[in-house]
Amino acid sequence: MDRRFNILGVDFDCLDRHQAQQAIAALVDHGGVHQVITANAEMVMASRKDARLQAVFRQAKLVVADGVGVILASRMLGRPLPQRVAGVDLTAELLRCAAKQGWPVYLFGARPEVMAALERRCRALYPDLRLAGTQHGFVTERSQVAQDIARSRARLLLVGLGAPAQEHFIFDHAHLWQDLVAMGVGGSFDILSAHKARAPGWMQRYGLEWLYRLLREPRRYRRQLALPAFFLLVLKTRWFKGKR
Ligand code: UDP
Repeated sequence: MDRRFNILGVDFDCLDRHQAQQAIAALVDHGGVHQVITANAEMVMASRKDARLQAVFRQAKLVVADGVGVILASRMLGRPLPQRVAGVDLTAELLRCAAKQGWPVYLFGARPEVMAALERRCRALYPDLRLAGTQHGFVTERSQVAQDIARSRARLLLVGLGAPAQEHFIFDHAHLWQDLVAMGVGGSFDILSAHKARAPGWMQRYGLEWLYRLLREPRRYRRQLALPAFFLLVLKTRWFKGKR
């Protein structure tokens, strides 16, 4: 069976969280520069109007489903993806794995106080973690950060600038780096540093994390306006598939 499944133009890897973490570990061991994307329905919709974002998705080594919308869409289209791979969970797993494997890690993004708290938390939780560099996300010259990342010799780069800015940052600067796996992590640093709370477990289990975030940050409603159009397109695709 094909290991990727296309949803409205974006190829998703059919991996659960553990498999995604293992696949990333294999990429780090293999060497070279690789981009990993955790994508939700809003990003799929954004890519439909953004040719550059489509190119970013096409060259990504791994694209995992970070959102209940993508999981529902995969079921509707007859090829259920195994599990939602939440960026925040994958980030925590990768930090643990990096500490164990000795990969130097570079963290870029979030507000200065969030990054400072995250560093403290990483040192407390993962004493063996090698931080090759950290930089908050409100710098004016992101290209200088890209150079600093190159000098740091990090093997894993986690970028929390929000989607799709973080995906573009990685794509635009990958040519500067060597032997680095880079992944956008959205607001994960806010949660892992305990600056923001995550949805309660029951909301995560029922696929309602998006609702929790919407209630906490109502300004997110604009982005979620893309969801009805996403599901209409999925239904249309299913209908055409049924006709064939
Ligand atoms: N951010 C940043 N620099 C910016 C704008 C945003 O570092 O210029 C950070 C922000 O502080 C937050 C993250 O990017 O930590 C975006 O989080 P969000 O939950 O909005 O991510 P998304 O849902 O877009 O993936």
